[in-house]
Amino acid sequence: MVSVLTDKNVLKHYLELPQPDDQVQCEYIWIDGTGQGIRSKCRTLDFEPKDPTDCPVWNYDGSSTYQAEGSNSDMYLHPVAIYRDPFRRGKNKLVLCEVYKYNKTPAETNKRQSCKKAMDKARDVHPWFGIEQEYTLLDSTKYPFGWPKNGFPGPQGPYYCGVGATKVFGRDVVEAHYRACLYAGIKIAGCNAEVMPAQWEFQVGPCEGIDMGDQLWIARYILDRVAEDFGVVVTYDPKPMTGDWNGAGAHTNYSTKEMREPGGIKAIEEAIKKLGKQHARHIKAYDPKGGEDNKRRLTGHHETSSIEDFSAGVANRGASIRIPRQVAEDGMGYLEDRRPASNCDPYSVTEVIIVTTVLEE
Ligand code: ADP
Ligand code: MN
Ligand code: MN
Ligand code: MN
Ligand code: MN
Repeated sequence: MVSVLTDKNVLKHYLELPQPDDQVQCEYIWIDGTGQGIRSKCRTLDFEPKDPTDCPVWNYDGSSTYQAEGSNSDMYLHPVAIYRDPFRRGKNKLVLCEVYKYNKTPAETNKRQSCKKAMDKARDVHPWFGIEQEYTLLDSTKYPFGWPKNGFPGPQGPYYCGVGATKVFGRDVVEAHYRACLYAGIKIAGCNAEVMPAQWEFQVGPCEGIDMGDQLWIARYILDRVAEDFGVVVTYDPKPMTGDWNGAGAHTNYSTKEMREPGGIKAIEEAIKKLGKQHARHIKAYDPKGGEDNKRRLTGHHETSSIEDFSAGVANRGASIRIPRQVAEDGMGYLEDRRPASNCDPYSVTEVIIVTTVLEE
């Protein structure tokens, strides 16, 4: 159940109170022990941070986030990226953090640390990523938002990019999230209603290297917060409804400098050949449960490929890898890896793509 809704117009009064110039609210944000859940807590700084390194290292109680024993529970928060805060506005900031254990080693769900190392090694190829984040809105009973109680909406068909009260559910959440991301400085590329009603997508990118994971996690945080304000629940589960309903993915579009230049299709094809040899390794990295979550989604139906097989094709939405039609025509551009689940960790996804296609010869 979601908490009882309060009147958000009352909050407006307080948020309009003048804020002292030298008192900046910084919301520290991190990934918890599930590898999917986002946590945050706030502190006041007496200056406006311009860079994550301006923000002090902090700590929290890891025994309350599935990350540590109560007897040795302090976890460290290392600020790694800052964004404008679309909720508090002004000089206030969202501060993305990496999590480290008491012994200064990365927490199990800190996938950023090794991703960053890989991205640094691959810097010269200028890897770009664009992730299509699909998600589903649920009501307070955890049933898809706007679906008839004890029943189902009409079959899939009219909902994808739909318009009209019987075709889309929750557009105000989507609109608020889009504008809040722009305000924060997220490179949000677009959004659309998805095939299953109450399912939506937004895209972030292209982002170079580690920035992809950073931006997507902040965009997810903003979505969770916006939905909270509306009393709506977001799920990133890759198959929230069984039956004849589409699942949710995180299609990952990828290119190197070479792929983006004339004749780049050759480099794209070489990368696809390498990806084909490492299918199992990638499936393991494409959801937080080593492939278990994606088993429910990658069935070979509903615009997916089978989890067992690797395939690639131009404009083929039933393949593991799709080469967009325009890319094939231009002879350069990017490829789309359609396998990552909606609840994937983008650091794990982008890292394994770089390891397979660039760092391993
Ligand atoms: P789809 O047709 O699969 O629905 P979308 O339009 O939803 O595709 O998403 C395409 C994504 O690809 C966007 O996030 C965009 O930023 C990203 N993208 C575009 N060009 C490149 C590129 N050269 N390298 C990596 N990503 C790219
Ligand atoms: Mn306390
Ligand atoms: Mn898309
Ligand atoms: Mn989609
Ligand atoms: Mn796609």
